[in-house]
Amino acid sequence: MKKDYYEILEVQRTATAAEIKKAYRKQALKYHPDKNPGDKQAEENFKLAAEAYEVLSDDNKRAQYDRFGHAAFEGGMGGGGFSMDDIFSQFGDIFGGHFSGFSGFSGFGGGSGQQQVYVKGENLRIRVKVTLEDIVKGTEKKVKVRRKVKAEDTTYKTCPTCHGRGQVVRQMNTMLGVMQTATTCTACGGSGEVIDKRGADSDSQGLKTIEETIPITIPAGVIDGIQLKINNKGNEAPTKNGVAGDLLVLIEEQEHETLKREGDNLHYDLYISFPEAVLGASKEIETVTGKVRIKLDEGIQSGKILRLRGKGVPNLQGRGAGDLIIHVNVWTPKKLTDKQKAFFKEMQEDENFTPKPDKNEKSFFEKVKEMFS
Ligand SMILES: [Zn+2]
Repeated sequence: MKKDYYEILEVQRTATAAEIKKAYRKQALKYHPDKNPGDKQAEENFKLAAEAYEVLSDDNKRAQYDRFGHAAFEGGMGGGGFSMDDIFSQFGDIFGGHFSGFSGFSGFGGGSGQQQVYVKGENLRIRVKVTLEDIVKGTEKKVKVRRKVKAEDTTYKTCPTCHGRGQVVRQMNTMLGVMQTATTCTACGGSGEVIDKRGADSDSQGLKTIEETIPITIPAGVIDGIQLKINNKGNEAPTKNGVAGDLLVLIEEQEHETLKREGDNLHYDLYISFPEAVLGASKEIETVTGKVRIKLDEGIQSGKILRLRGKGVPNLQGRGAGDLIIHVNVWTPKKLTDKQKAFFKEMQEDENFTPKPDKNEKSFFEKVKEMFS
């Protein structure tokens, strides 16, 4: 279970932007790598605080987080992926005054001169099909994912090429004298460690493939094509201290038999008989949240639009819910008995059957205009 962002920063859920900034500064100073050389837990806390601040300092992200928790975020962010350089380039203003003596970011890892990078495992991508019912209510799906994890019997050792530094320094004689260049160690990818012994059933990276059932929380209101991110449920890194990649879940919306979705609104075509239109009727409509009974006044016109407020799809950003829009269609019979034909022939000349649309009957175009305003 991932820790709550408010808990990480030790602030109330009602904290103001200024309080959040202050709280982040406090956490960042407490866990700053310069103050805690070699302390992995402090470094982890430092990264978590940065992740929490990235979300809570952004009104939009904060609103999403308040509503959906960690499930709210699709690709592009997340703790595992934060590098120290990211944190400083992103939130440099927070450190400005306090770290005037902080010489760039090259000093990481204290005085040991180590420069390891955290290798991240590969991201995995899956598609999940959701029905309109799932979308309206929100749901949890359990999906089976084949992912690579470290084999228990794989062991690691310090990289002999860079001696664990993650970088190799090369000296070159140039016309200007001896120049030193530091590059990422190719033997260990910068992690400072290599595989000592591979596990019996592992691949060349010391990993083995397992099948894992992963619960995925699908928030109400998701949209076809949206991508949810499950942190650290991708492949594990091929190094001892690396972080696992993420599981990216692409949402595929299945079409509903009778309801058409348009943004947060749902459209339903209701067919009524000619007598129902004339005499009025009470009709039951199957919606995704259950049955709804609607009353049709006598003399209802074909093309009439009824709107059930809030019976559509909940908004993903938490802004209420859309409407269920019912389009009334009067079904005209094609086959009639002689007796029925005689009746309508008689009515043809009748004053009451002559169309007399009044000013209040909106035209089709006006209705469409109204619907989209
Ligand atoms: Zn190396």
